[in-house]
Amino acid sequence: MRVLTMGFVGLALVTAGGPVECIAQEDAVRTAAMRPVRYELELRLDYEAEKLYGQVKLTVANRSATATNELPLLLYRTLTVAGLEDAQGRAVEFEQRLAGLDDWPQRQANVITATLSEPLGPGDTATLAISYEGYLLGYAETGTRYQQDRIDPEFTIIRRDPYAYPVVSYPSLQSMRAAGLPQFDYRATITVPESLTVANVGRLVEHRTEAGAASWVYVNHRTAWRMDFAIAEYGVHEAGGHKVFYFPQDSVGAGRVMDGLTGTLALYSEWFGPQRGDVRFTVIEIPDGWGSQTDVTGISQTAAAFRDPDRSNELYHEISHLWNVVDPDPAPPRWNEGLAEFLSELTAEELEGGEAVATAVEEQLRWIRERFVATPRYAGIPMADYGRENVTGLSYHVGIVMFAVLYDLVGAETFNEIVGGFYQRYADTGATTDEFVVYAKSVSGMNLGRFFHDWMYTTEWYPHVRDGATLDDLVTEYR
Ligand SMILES: [Zn+2]
Repeated sequence: MRVLTMGFVGLALVTAGGPVECIAQEDAVRTAAMRPVRYELELRLDYEAEKLYGQVKLTVANRSATATNELPLLLYRTLTVAGLEDAQGRAVEFEQRLAGLDDWPQRQANVITATLSEPLGPGDTATLAISYEGYLLGYAETGTRYQQDRIDPEFTIIRRDPYAYPVVSYPSLQSMRAAGLPQFDYRATITVPESLTVANVGRLVEHRTEAGAASWVYVNHRTAWRMDFAIAEYGVHEAGGHKVFYFPQDSVGAGRVMDGLTGTLALYSEWFGPQRGDVRFTVIEIPDGWGSQTDVTGISQTAAAFRDPDRSNELYHEISHLWNVVDPDPAPPRWNEGLAEFLSELTAEELEGGEAVATAVEEQLRWIRERFVATPRYAGIPMADYGRENVTGLSYHVGIVMFAVLYDLVGAETFNEIVGGFYQRYADTGATTDEFVVYAKSVSGMNLGRFFHDWMYTTEWYPHVRDGATLDDLVTEYR
């Protein structure tokens, strides 16, 4: 889903429904030196008491340049740490208190500060065992209505958004944002009544039952930035290693989702070349109003997308991200979102027919004309600066136009060489926006200097759009 896939998924949503502006802070934003690198999670859900019991072995790495023994953690406000030990089983000192986030006081959390017995040097890692328990009651009252999370046999989701497991951060949105997305591996064992299924986008490595309870063990396929476990009476479609978890009443829609999934993967492999490694993609249905989310190897999608055939674009969009290259820029412009928007429309044309690209681009041109007048600042921010200027939402709207123009300029074959070749070359190392531009210029066989100057590094594209240019006009302009 567009809005929900803006990188800092939880945060983008939080600001959408929560505080309009963060409180201005004079001090530099505090970001935790420690970052999570591995979670080993064991959770048991007690549906009668509506309570969860968790054990986490959390491995953190000190990513800063100085030694520190301070580990800030957040948990949901009614989850309490019962014990904290180091790898040798020695108790680790910690404090926990109920408090609002610094820049969002209505959103209360259990704010935990652990003090390691010995400081952790730069680059070093430490593993802590944390036991915690308590209740999940959601955050709907703070404006994040999709966070209805609770322990309920109808539907339960365990996820990062309401800190259902320990999140390494100071209690501030600014500090979460400044830290960027975490990158970690996980192994999780979730124990629930036998009648329920635990769905996750990772690999199911074990499913064992004992005395009416079932334990589901999942391991991430690729380095993850979130781990979600949706629990309900799910049906499962499996094909070629891909999975669709669905509510029984939506089995027809789930078949369509699976067809879209396998069809899109095949199409992109043909266009952009094979995926590095073994791709296993998972789609998990969640109830409407719970907020679709994306991780590296799967998505959770609200029921509406399973019932409405016109919502396939969201799936195409997410799958296209598998062919993206990681941008090492700390504040990337995220033009990949514009590329994903363009590819989802192109895929719709390919699989369903119609004039999806032209229609979508005209719609975005109208959007740009309105919004850039309402917010004149936008007309002065080049796409390359969208991250630094904190307007990556524009990457969806301006980016789809830019890629549609590029596609028509260079033709399908060269376009696929640009996008696919860039992925094949930089998938393992990552690459910056500048490297993308250099690469595109080098394989296009034509002069794309002015095109990228106008669309990526300046806003010289804007006067054309403001004055009413259509997609065809723009292509002519840059031909
Ligand atoms: Zn996206």
